[in-house]
Amino acid sequence: MKIKFDKLEIKSFNSKESCLQLIADQKWAEGYTCRNCGNTNFCIGKTPYSRRCTRCKHEESATSHTIFHHCRIELPEAFRIMYMVCNDPGISTYELSRQMELRQMTCWKLKSKLMECIKERGEIDILFEGEKINDPLIG
Ligand SMILES: [Zn+2]
Repeated sequence: MKIKFDKLEIKSFNSKESCLQLIADQKWAEGYTCRNCGNTNFCIGKTPYSRRCTRCKHEESATSHTIFHHCRIELPEAFRIMYMVCNDPGISTYELSRQMELRQMTCWKLKSKLMECIKERGEIDILFEGEKINDPLIG
């Protein structure tokens, strides 16, 4: 489930749909398995790029179980931040905030998640269950 950023043209991820498509492609690259019952057959879910189990009807969105779950930043912006952080893991959240015109805390939260997922320079594992980070502002 790793994205190699040197192979990506970040400009092509300027719509929510294109981002969702990439996430879904990565997430189910090795095929779909229902997290609820283990069934491998699915139909299209209600939201774009979501998948719905044909047996138990459990629906999984493209973003659930990824770092983009509950992300408050619009996906194209989050992708830009992901791109910037992958290319320069030392970039400050102040700099991200300035460039993206987003609150610094918002950038800090996403960057913290990203840093957990970056395996090496330019490569990121977008699958993220959410328990790894202690977020002082949530819960
Ligand atoms: Zn199922």
